[in-house]
Amino acid sequence: MIVTVEICMHCGACAGSCPKNAVFLNDTLPVFTDACNRCGRCVKVCPVGALEMEAKA
Ligand code: SF4
Ligand code: SF4
Repeated sequence: MIVTVEICMHCGACAGSCPKNAVFLNDTLPVFTDACNRCGRCVKVCPVGALEMEAKA
């Protein structure tokens, strides 16, 4: 996941939306773990569009 650091406002919506609990907030940024199954939910709920799915490796 790509986080646009400058616009993330740490609202926690991404963490709250994740069905896999794959994202949590640290002091500065949302952190994504390997539990992410790329469902895209967090990308959709982010109110400021700070998240973007990166191309599959
Ligand atoms: S893409 Fe889906 S599984 Fe991955 S962090 Fe976002 S909500 Fe969670
Ligand atoms: S939903 Fe968007 S603005 Fe809110 S914490 Fe997650 S990335 Fe940041």
